[in-house]
Amino acid sequence: MIHQISLSLLPEQANDDTAFRTEALRHLRLPADSSAVVRKRRQSIDARGRQVRVHIDADVFVGTPPPPLLSFQKQYPNVSQARQAIIVGAGPAGLFAALRLIELGVKPIVLERGSDVRTRRRDLAAINKDHVVNPESNYCFGEGGAGTYSDGKLYTRSTKRGDVRRILEILVAHGATEQILVDAHPHIGTNKLPNVVADLRQSILDAGGEVHFDTRVTDFLMAGDQMKGVVTADGREWPGLGVILATGHSARDIFYLLHDKGVRIEAKPFAMGVRIEHQQALIDQLQYHRPERGDHLPAASYSLVTQTRFNGVERGVFSFCMCPGGFIVPAATAPGELVVNGMSPSRRDSKFANSGLVVAIADDDLKPYRDEGPLAGLALQQELERWACRLGNDNGKRPAQTAPAQRVADFVSGRVSAELLPTSYQPGLASVDMSDVLPDHIAQPLKQGLRDFGRKMRGYLSNDGQVIGVESRTSSPVRIPRHRDTCEHVEISRLFPCGEGAGFAGGIVSAAMDGERCAEELVKLYN
Ligand code: FAD
Repeated sequence: MIHQISLSLLPEQANDDTAFRTEALRHLRLPADSSAVVRKRRQSIDARGRQVRVHIDADVFVGTPPPPLLSFQKQYPNVSQARQAIIVGAGPAGLFAALRLIELGVKPIVLERGSDVRTRRRDLAAINKDHVVNPESNYCFGEGGAGTYSDGKLYTRSTKRGDVRRILEILVAHGATEQILVDAHPHIGTNKLPNVVADLRQSILDAGGEVHFDTRVTDFLMAGDQMKGVVTADGREWPGLGVILATGHSARDIFYLLHDKGVRIEAKPFAMGVRIEHQQALIDQLQYHRPERGDHLPAASYSLVTQTRFNGVERGVFSFCMCPGGFIVPAATAPGELVVNGMSPSRRDSKFANSGLVVAIADDDLKPYRDEGPLAGLALQQELERWACRLGNDNGKRPAQTAPAQRVADFVSGRVSAELLPTSYQPGLASVDMSDVLPDHIAQPLKQGLRDFGRKMRGYLSNDGQVIGVESRTSSPVRIPRHRDTCEHVEISRLFPCGEGAGFAGGIVSAAMDGERCAEELVKLYN
């Protein structure tokens, strides 16, 4: 017999396997020495009341063996002799597309401009310590894509729960902790992600697929309105049944290439702003209503959203990709640009909490870039990143990746900070008036938003936090349009725009789901 139970426990009970089991058995009035198997289904923290509680849904199997935890089995057919399809980009979209193609009997050829996860580590160290940005291998480019050296948050707003579960199971089968199947807000952590990514690659190789690193796609092989394959920087041609284009939101050269070749792309709504950093202890106090987090609660997170009005236009201001116990990282993809983002280790044990704090860009903001057509958002993004870089490094007088920063209350009241706070951003900060870095249509709504957030979370708007710029790559400013049902480009057959860069995903899990979907549609149509 299977009993489905829901418990509301203290954190120390929830995190102790024995204590949790005792509570579950007691709930069902089963004896303490019962042989029942208790399995958590979902776990979430409720910090709304004075006393933080952990809600757990669990299944208790009495006299019935529990089913296997994973319905996904890591068994791939050998496709080395099968027909091949091309995948551009080895981010979550590209890797999951490759694995799905294999399951469906097609050989994936994955072409990735960046390096494998191990080599990539050296390039990240070079950005952080020597301020050198390798345009092919950085926080956005390389094996695993933008998701590898990230927080590894695995939640998505997608309502397709079955699909989400499948992605999580595949990650578990490739080395991620089983806890991600249970947590309401699962995450893997930047220290664990590289091994998971390398294992996903190994599955592709073991099944006879190919993964080529340091292999940048520079052109498309097209016959009229049909995509035949791609060309790489070394001049090699790669034909295939179809091309899954999963190049992420930072592959600007791909957007320009598509535009130059007359392949339809469109402008898409996006947001930009800053990253805000506080002491994690402050966020813990605000969220858990107690002086100290203690040993049984994870580093607290938050999610904030408000509406502001500037120049007669309503603009959403919201927190984005909050990283509890994390680090702010330099995520530019070219020298001369400054972009910040956030990541955190699996234990989320840094003493800093950071989050993107961004403003929706309105159509009016893009007026000066109208000549760029669908690439107007990209032009604004790039201009902001270059300007932030110049102000941060003071036209080359300071190290290149020095980020402009200002304490939060100083920013809101328009005072340059006399002194900045310690930070997790390794390349270093320079005190700059962020209102000089950001255009008014971002700075003013941010200030309005911060006032509102300061009312919702006392202490959030204070000089105990600082804003660091710029957070410009929250999502792609461009969409590569495709048919809703087949995922094929609206005008070019055999081209499957995929993942975040194409505008169909916003995060690791949604990109992975989109990769699977594009692979399925490609096989349905052309294999
Ligand atoms: P990407 O991951 O961007 O992958 C695209 C790949 O294509 C890259 O590897 C790139 O090198 C390659 N490529 C580009 N151009 C070419 C070319 N011409 N030829 C060959 N290859 C090419 N999301 C979350 O859900 N949770 C998080 O915690 C999280 N934290 C993040 C932290 C950081 C620092 C960053 C940068 C992003 C974070 N994100 C997070 C966002 C997430 O990483 C992306 O949404 C996701 O990776 C998008 O997947 P994708 O496969 O569509 O594209």
